[in-house]
Amino acid sequence: MFIGIDDTDSPDGMCTTYLGLVLKERLESIENPILYRLNPNVRFKTRGNASISMRAQNENNKKIKKIVKDTIKEFAMVECNNTNPGVVFIDEDFNSITEEILSFPLKCVRSFVDISDAENILEKYSIDSFYLGNGRGRIGALASAIVCLVDTIYPELRYRVLPDHTYELLAYRKKERWGEKRVVDVESVFKADELTYPSTWDTVDTVNKELVCVPNTKCPVLLGVRGESEKAVISAFNMMKHEPIEGWVVYKTNQGTDLHIQNPSSNIDLKEGESYVVRGRVVSEPSTIRGGHVFFTIENEKEVKCAAFEPTKQFRNIVRELRVGDEVRVYGSYIENVLNLEKIEIVSLVNHELRNPLCPKCGKSMKSKGNGKGYECVKCGTYANSKRVVPIERPISVGLYEVPPCARRHISKPLVRMRGKCVHPMR
Ligand code: ATP
Repeated sequence: MFIGIDDTDSPDGMCTTYLGLVLKERLESIENPILYRLNPNVRFKTRGNASISMRAQNENNKKIKKIVKDTIKEFAMVECNNTNPGVVFIDEDFNSITEEILSFPLKCVRSFVDISDAENILEKYSIDSFYLGNGRGRIGALASAIVCLVDTIYPELRYRVLPDHTYELLAYRKKERWGEKRVVDVESVFKADELTYPSTWDTVDTVNKELVCVPNTKCPVLLGVRGESEKAVISAFNMMKHEPIEGWVVYKTNQGTDLHIQNPSSNIDLKEGESYVVRGRVVSEPSTIRGGHVFFTIENEKEVKCAAFEPTKQFRNIVRELRVGDEVRVYGSYIENVLNLEKIEIVSLVNHELRNPLCPKCGKSMKSKGNGKGYECVKCGTYANSKRVVPIERPISVGLYEVPPCARRHISKPLVRMRGKCVHPMR
């Protein structure tokens, strides 16, 4: 049986992924735990719009469902109005792998769906589910359960739901410590990063000197190690010194894959709350507004306003160096008519500019005589027809740049994973 779960936490505590650990113990064993991140722009989300799923085999179905439902009732933070838990159970012998089923997870990652969309599928395919509150959690639960089913039983169709994947080891605190300050040995975490990067990433932010892998919230997570393989995340975790833990789970995940990014056929198609990579020419010089947010505009068929917000820290220094005429590819979410940058590829840089000609006699800059009337040296009276082309030094070069680890969204692909491309990773 494939179990999908979503929406059990609130800003005051819990984390849906923690139920993976609880169910691992209560169901005696689980297989292929999946952590599937959905559209990062969904407004109902608590934090990173995570859903989980797993396969459970060694109990009878009735017993599995009872254990899962009891666990949700015990842990879900339903006192919060915005917590609407949902669980979906897909049987082992489910074989209606239709287009509707296969396309649902990606739809949840890239756009918005209604509760009724999930309900229609559940009813049409007789998929059992359970919910509390308004049942919104069944959206993510269904998406995640489909991913686990396809990934486990139909690997040839994996490219439709999980075309790329990474791993995250999530270690959970003992219950009596929830809400208290986390005890993690900073030095050992920096060391673990140094010894395992680039097989693991986003453990620390070396420039901003932050532990990225340790959350600040009241949730049960002590830390999470992200990496390319199960082996890599376990080995990094084993090097870290920390408070006693309740246990850990390694999830297979779409984190760090850019699964949310779409390549639109035209800039005109950009939709609110969806994420894109868009190519264009810079048409307005970057400008910094109060608060440190940097804005500029690119143009392709249409103008697209882009922003590097203050939390993206030193990434803004790259963006500030852009000039009119540079060719770029911008990656990010389109929110309130602004593309919020997660990455930028500088495709080509303008490396010449036009300046007023110099007087051949005195060497001073000539003055324009008016539109189309040439240039003249006010002192010597010398004349020139046109401006001169001057090479300019650019402090940036072509290639991909990204926000630092402390500003990275869970689903964004870090450049360290973009092998074979010209990249400037931030670490
Ligand atoms: P955490 O990451 O801490 O587990 P969260 O950020 O995942 O929390 P949830 O509390 O799970 O946030 O809330 C997200 C809600 O949005 C869930 O009910 C989920 O089913 C729903 N949802 C997810 N993706 C979409 C989507 N694409 N369209 C509409 N609703 C969605």
